[in-house]
Amino acid sequence: MLRYDLHTHSTASDGALSPHALVERARQQNVQVLALTDHDTVAGVQALQGQMGDMTLINGAELTCLWGSRMVHIVGLRLDIGCPRLLEYLQGIDQLRQQRAEQVAVRLMKKGLPDLLAQARANAAGGVIGRPHFASAMVERGLVKTEQQAFSQYLGTGKTGDVKMQWPDMAEAIAVITQAGGLAVLAHPTKYRFTFTKIRALMAQFKADGGHAMEVSYTGISPSHQLELIKLVNQHELLASAGSDFHSPAHHWTEVGRFMPLKQPVPHIMDHLV
Ligand code: AMP
Ligand code: MN
Ligand code: MN
Ligand code: MN
Repeated sequence: MLRYDLHTHSTASDGALSPHALVERARQQNVQVLALTDHDTVAGVQALQGQMGDMTLINGAELTCLWGSRMVHIVGLRLDIGCPRLLEYLQGIDQLRQQRAEQVAVRLMKKGLPDLLAQARANAAGGVIGRPHFASAMVERGLVKTEQQAFSQYLGTGKTGDVKMQWPDMAEAIAVITQAGGLAVLAHPTKYRFTFTKIRALMAQFKADGGHAMEVSYTGISPSHQLELIKLVNQHELLASAGSDFHSPAHHWTEVGRFMPLKQPVPHIMDHLV
C-alpha cells in the first residue's frame, strides 16, 4: 500500500504549517497520499489544488458535530470542494465558531483573565478559529506555561472555556459529506474520553447514520485499543482509516505520516480513495 496520512491540519484551522509547508513536510516523510483535514474548512485544500507534484492530495475536512450532547469529529475524505451544500454548511459552522470565540473570551474574563479575543483572532490569522488559538494566546501572555496547561486549566472538556454550541448533529455531518461525494470517517474514537461501551453505541449510531469508516490508528492510541477498534470496524462492516492528526512541528510526539501500523488485516479506506 502507498504511504499515506489521512488526517492532518494546516494554518487554515489550528495547524502551525501553511498548506504548502505541510505538503513539503509530508514529501520529506515520503508520504505519497496526503489528506488535508482542517477543522470545518476546505480553504487549505483549495489553496493546494493543482500544486501537489507527484503526491496525491485527498480533499478533506474534520467536521465538528454533536452525538447527543457530546462533541465528536467526523472526517470527510475525497470531498467535492465545489459542492454548494458543503460550502454553505461550512459557512454556518464558521459563524458558530466566531460566536463561540466571543463567548470563550467573556467566560475567561469572568475567571480573571485579560480579554484574549483579539490575540486569539490574530493567532487564527484568517483561518477557522478554535480553542487552540486561545491556548497559544495564554502562553504568549505568560498566563500558562504550555498549551496543554491552557486546556487542562481553562479550555478542556468541562472547563470554563469549553463553551457548548449547537453544532450540527452527526447525521447531518455525515449527510453533507456524502452529498459532497465523500466518505465519512469517525475520527479518533478513543480520544473523547468515552468508555468502550459508549464508543460501541457511538459506532452503531454512526453506522446507522450512513457513516463509512473509522480511524483505528492515530497518534497516542494503544495497541490493544487499535485491536478493539479493528474488531468494531469488522462487526459494523465499516472501513478502517488512519492518520497522524498532525498539527505542529512543535508537537514532538507527532509527525506527518507517522502512526502505528495496522496490526491486523482489515478492509481499508485507502482502497476506495486512490
Ligand atoms: P476546537 O476545534 O476549538 O473545539 O478545539 C479542539 C482542538 O483543540 C483539537 O482539535 C486539538 O487540536 C486541540 N486540543 C483539544 N484538547 C487538547 C488538549 N488537552 N491539549 C492540547 N490541545 C488540545
Ligand atoms: Mn485541532
Ligand atoms: Mn479531532
Ligand atoms: Mn484533527
